[in-house]
Amino acid sequence: MKRIMNEEKNQIEKLKTLSLKKLKTLVKEIKSQLPEKDQNIITYSKNFTLVLSTYCSNRCSYCYFNHRIQKEQEDDNVTLLEKEKVVSTLLIAKQYDCKEALLMSGECSDHFKEVREELLKSNYQSFIEYVSSLCERLLQQNFLPHTNIGTLNYQDLKELKKYNASMGLMLESTNNKLCKPGGVHQYSPDKAPERRIKHIEDAGELKIPFTTGLLLGIGETIEDRINDLFLIKQLNERYGHIQEIIIQNFIPHQGISYEPKHLITIKETLRTAALAKIICGNDISIQVPPNLIREYESFAIDLGIDDFGGISPFTKDYINPKHPWPQITYLKEICESKGVIFKERYPIYDKFIEKSEFCPENIKNTINNIKQNE
Ligand code: SF4
Repeated sequence: MKRIMNEEKNQIEKLKTLSLKKLKTLVKEIKSQLPEKDQNIITYSKNFTLVLSTYCSNRCSYCYFNHRIQKEQEDDNVTLLEKEKVVSTLLIAKQYDCKEALLMSGECSDHFKEVREELLKSNYQSFIEYVSSLCERLLQQNFLPHTNIGTLNYQDLKELKKYNASMGLMLESTNNKLCKPGGVHQYSPDKAPERRIKHIEDAGELKIPFTTGLLLGIGETIEDRINDLFLIKQLNERYGHIQEIIIQNFIPHQGISYEPKHLITIKETLRTAALAKIICGNDISIQVPPNLIREYESFAIDLGIDDFGGISPFTKDYINPKHPWPQITYLKEICESKGVIFKERYPIYDKFIEKSEFCPENIKNTINNIKQNE
């Protein structure tokens, strides 16, 4: 796939120098192209997280999640999520009226003997079989699964599509230097840009409503970010499956080896969110995790974000556990003070629900059940 068009390449120089004032004006112009009723809405999804396994075959130097990092709370390192934990989590999720179940794990968790042994104890031959079965059960209990368990091949994606309302994989950055000695992905073969692009393309072929995004502050340049946003736009033009782009800032953690010379600032993060809106227009929602941009939420709205992503009333952000999710009421107040409606959405965006190729019958049935209980 051609990475970016020449014309777009020429735009990079212009885009990277835009002032904040200009960015705000441009995102406003873009939003004004939406039907009037949609211009002042910020969405979120009420979700909960199931960490299936923290075993990961990669070693990204900025990562706190993977099993090699000793956690403050011991049970935050998971070999295979215990059945009892699933049952208790679902009970609480029902009480809080969560709709989305976010399933996450390290990459290729079943490359590890410890994980395979746990799978076999429950009669699963593979990790994918385990995840499929759990997603099927979630659907039956009127939760909408969104799975992000790292790079997968076409067959595994096809299998998981059957039971997922949407799926996700962060593109992070396609800067190849990050995979070279000294780069954050030196020991992370699954972070090779081609592998991640292939995964996103396969999801497009399979018509899976898809979430991707950039991780900022890991050694990439502003040109890389703009380049990657054009790439995501191009992928969406080809397959029409990207529903949102997450613009996420790296946050330091105790116990990790990555120590950047300059920490990415929230302002720089939100500038990138504005660039994402300018590049991708209204076809794709731009999301920033609200727990990582505290006190800048209003600024984020001015810079054109569309979505505050999954917010959990009771599970934590396992990637950034020191950054609790804000209360939904807190974000609602900020939105309302700016004349913006804060609206709940499902993990599959409305525009995909009506398209049967993106939203199979069983997913639609669960959505209908949820709607009936609202
Ligand atoms: S692939 Fe994901 S879980 Fe694994 S080390 Fe990298 S960031 Fe962490």
